[in-house]
Amino acid sequence: MANAQKNVDHSRSDSDLDYDVIIVGAGIAGLYQLYQLRKIGLKIRVFESGTDVGGTWYWNRYPGARFDSESYSYGYSFSQELLDEWDWSEHFASQPEILRYLQHVAYKFDLVRDIQFSSDVQSAIYDDTTRSWKIQLQNSNTYTSRFLITGVGLLSEPTLPNIEGIGSFTGDSFHTSRWPHTPVNFSGKRVAVIGTGASGVQVIQEICKDVGRLTVFQRRPNWCAPLHNANIGQAEMKDIRSRYNEIFERCSQTQAGFLHTVDPRSTFEVSEEERYVFWEHLYASKGFGIWQGNFKDVLTNPEANKAMSDFIANKIKERVIDPITAEKLIPKDHGFGTRRVPLETKYYESYNQENVELIDISSTPIERITPTGIATTSKVFDVDLIIYATGFNAILGSYDRINIVGVNNQSLKEQWKNELSTFLGLQVNNFPNLFMIMGPHALLGNNPRSIEYNVEWITNLLNYMVNQKFTRAEATSEAVASWYSYVLAQGEGLLANQVDSWMTGINSNIEGRQKRIIARYSGSQYSYRKRCNEVAENNYRELRLT
Ligand SMILES: Cc1cc2nc3c(=O)[nH]c(=O)nc-3n(C[C@H](O)[C@H](O)[C@H](O)COP(=O)(O)OP(=O)(O)OC[C@H]3O[C@@H](n4cnc5c(N)ncnc54)[C@H](O)[C@@H]3O)c2cc1C
Repeated sequence: MANAQKNVDHSRSDSDLDYDVIIVGAGIAGLYQLYQLRKIGLKIRVFESGTDVGGTWYWNRYPGARFDSESYSYGYSFSQELLDEWDWSEHFASQPEILRYLQHVAYKFDLVRDIQFSSDVQSAIYDDTTRSWKIQLQNSNTYTSRFLITGVGLLSEPTLPNIEGIGSFTGDSFHTSRWPHTPVNFSGKRVAVIGTGASGVQVIQEICKDVGRLTVFQRRPNWCAPLHNANIGQAEMKDIRSRYNEIFERCSQTQAGFLHTVDPRSTFEVSEEERYVFWEHLYASKGFGIWQGNFKDVLTNPEANKAMSDFIANKIKERVIDPITAEKLIPKDHGFGTRRVPLETKYYESYNQENVELIDISSTPIERITPTGIATTSKVFDVDLIIYATGFNAILGSYDRINIVGVNNQSLKEQWKNELSTFLGLQVNNFPNLFMIMGPHALLGNNPRSIEYNVEWITNLLNYMVNQKFTRAEATSEAVASWYSYVLAQGEGLLANQVDSWMTGINSNIEGRQKRIIARYSGSQYSYRKRCNEVAENNYRELRLT
């Protein structure tokens, strides 16, 4: 408990309110925000729906769940002591290890005493006369605070598909993100997986080792690339530890906070031979390099993107024995890297197993779930267990499900229905004293790198406000409009913004999510931080502080 702060000074607290700050969520974001705000002497409460810390890594317990970020680039960077004592066992750690890490952080820094678990925040109503938020939990208990900070996660609200009869299935069925805490036995079972996004890929390649029969229902394939995971031995961990400064410095210089740097060359500037040598090298390398460290125009120039997509398509054809299955696994509606790239380990080879079958539900859609299985337009599949790897109501879902009401009775959900806009992804006009960690239009990428930055920015602002005796902060509508224009400009020319994905706000299972929007900031980390730093350096003049 080296850094524990047992005797926190609450002398700067506002005694009329229950808390100075209520934080929603005890994932990477909520934990770090609690840690930082304690240092400035505020009275804080964290409300978390789950029964433990960890967020994503608490909920997503499906077999095969693991990092796509290098473990040592993902962990917190703020504590040298933590960096010194924590050993990662793999380059891309698995969910149980990541959860252990976050539990270790929570106990080491004595965070748990300010976290209330099994506490789902259902509404948050702002009162301008007291300049405070009143939040209500599922059990109807209410609490007031000056500030409300959401660390609710951008991939935390799961979606099930709209399929008739979904409740009628009599066997076990689980969404990947609501996985049971006790082991699931697959041995000898007939298992169905619906969905082939990042979670689907991870779960399929893992359980195919164990199942009796696996049927994968794929609506559309994604471009996957090899993860190349490996164990980290003691000597290697020692070396990584000695390079932590360099690792985090590098992450802070790259486009999206990963270790991988975009190659300054463009695709057709090099000879064909050189191009393929480079792509082979990327295909044989660990992690997101093939996505984040490719030629600089692969994600913007349609011809370059096509050449890269063809390269990956050939790899799929080489790895999948049955040419019809291989063809089904090759995306036709988007190019490589324009949607989130799932990283895989022998995923394509899974389909070479006799007991694994791929069903293309874009040509033979699922008609209904029956008590004993799944009926498509061409066949009925009897199964013992259904896994829904159908993803999330991304970015907006965890906000939409809380009734957040600001000044003039304005609901956040309604305001965002008209136009999804924020200031720096951190604040919204009409919602004073609400701060979002990684809200819409904030920097995404290697999430903890952005989270740490966002949390520190919010902490500095609250410290400034307390020192200046300000009790209300609201982004001006001009600041919001200007950030929105900037976000739109940054997204121009990016092929990813021209395809349907959770990053463009599309979710066919959710009403009203059929129209593309710009849901994320796609500029560089550097420009994001520069803009946020400028705001702070100019005493937050884009916020109305009173
Ligand atoms: C399977 C999977 C793999 C991923 N892999 C990577 C990766 O390799 N690299 C990477 O950078 N990112 C990855 N991500 C993204 C990941 O979500 C972030 O890295 C990170 O965990 C986000 O942390 P967070 O604290 O912002 O949100 P979360 O971890 O999502 O935590 C949010 C918490 O808020 C709680 N909450 C939400 N709403 C409420 C409410 N109304 N009341 C109370 N509590 C609430 C939730 O229960 C949850 O515990 C992955 C995501 C998934 C789903």
